[in-house]
Amino acid sequence: MYDIAIIGLGPAGATLARLLDKKYKVIAIDGKNKESGKCCGGLLAPDAQKMLARFDICLPKDVLVDPQIFSVKTIDLDNNIVKYYQRFYLNMDRAKFDNFLISLIPNNIEIRDNSICKKIEKGNSIYRFTFTSGGTERTEEAKMIIGADGANSIVRNIFYKKNKIEKYIAIQEWYKDGINSPFYSCIFDKKITSSYCWTISKDNYFIIGGAFPLNESNSRFEMLKEKVKNMGISFGELVKREGCFINLNKGSVNINTGKKGAYLIGEAAGMISPSSLEGISYSMESAKILAEIINNNCKSISHKYYTKTLYIKIRLFIKMLKKPFMYNRILRYFVMKSGIKTIKNK
Ligand SMILES: Cc1cc2nc3c(=O)[nH]c(=O)nc-3n(C[C@H](O)[C@H](O)[C@H](O)COP(=O)(O)OP(=O)(O)OC[C@H]3O[C@@H](n4cnc5c(N)ncnc54)[C@H](O)[C@@H]3O)c2cc1C
Repeated sequence: MYDIAIIGLGPAGATLARLLDKKYKVIAIDGKNKESGKCCGGLLAPDAQKMLARFDICLPKDVLVDPQIFSVKTIDLDNNIVKYYQRFYLNMDRAKFDNFLISLIPNNIEIRDNSICKKIEKGNSIYRFTFTSGGTERTEEAKMIIGADGANSIVRNIFYKKNKIEKYIAIQEWYKDGINSPFYSCIFDKKITSSYCWTISKDNYFIIGGAFPLNESNSRFEMLKEKVKNMGISFGELVKREGCFINLNKGSVNINTGKKGAYLIGEAAGMISPSSLEGISYSMESAKILAEIINNNCKSISHKYYTKTLYIKIRLFIKMLKKPFMYNRILRYFVMKSGIKTIKNK
């Protein structure tokens, strides 16, 4: 019998596992292995950098990739406008970042990587969970189960299925030795997606991707590539294609922190920016808050966790207010034409 079972070791689960008190018997189950990084832009935003600073964590150089980028080229294909905005991201290798966070987890935590949790049942004040590990199936029990398992969380799907979040599919392709001058861009085109698309360079790779509605995601991705090629950008040799679900948080109704021993952190809880789709900072922050509450032996974990994450919900609400200025074609036209916060490029 474990005290706590953490499902998922992305930034949320790895942070929680690192911060939980040693008195707890904890198992952490994660679907990925060391090589398989999450399909992600891999940009560490200032809020996420601030979280690392609050943890007193310095980032090793090998987590970063070439080049570091100081602006985003915003390409509005609906209005035919291109503008540059200053950004303060760190460009990193997402797989290495996740592995680095996992390497900070103390030895007392039992880690099962390359393992998929397939089933969870609630018994009499315990959770019984089944996972595959090394080709065999194992069933264990824990007093508390934490869903740190991202956009398609099994914990959320089982215990909070009524509180659904709209999902899009993110698709990215990696090309080797494509372009001469690396850049980071955000592309808006209503015909392709009501969310947004991007290109980014990492070491010698050029990455192109986007978040698409579930239907026609492949054809929309092909349309994106066609349009980017028409801009005169050549891609080089295709190396890999990756994809995953992404939660389109529509406000505080989509945020669910859990109750009665089954709690959610990070993207599983719906904590992802509805405008920029940035989520690493919220994942680490929600994990920190939950770890502190559990470590303090609080009686009403659900209530404390709910109230202590209100500040995150307010910040996500403010991001919601920003969303129309990014995604509404007419509002975006005026914002970009105004030149506010743009930088002159060449
Ligand atoms: C294409 C794309 C680009 C993005 N770019 C950025 C960016 O540049 N910067 C940023 O801050 N955010 C970005 N995000 C958002 C960011 O990736 C997420 O918000 C963040 O990874 C959430 O962290 P998490 O720990 O909550 O979940 P995740 O990072 O999704 O981790 C969940 C973990 O749970 C595991 N898991 C899932 N189901 C199971 C299961 N049943 N059993 C066992 N393990 C399981 C997975 O293998 C994974 O390791 C992007 C998202 C996408 C899709």
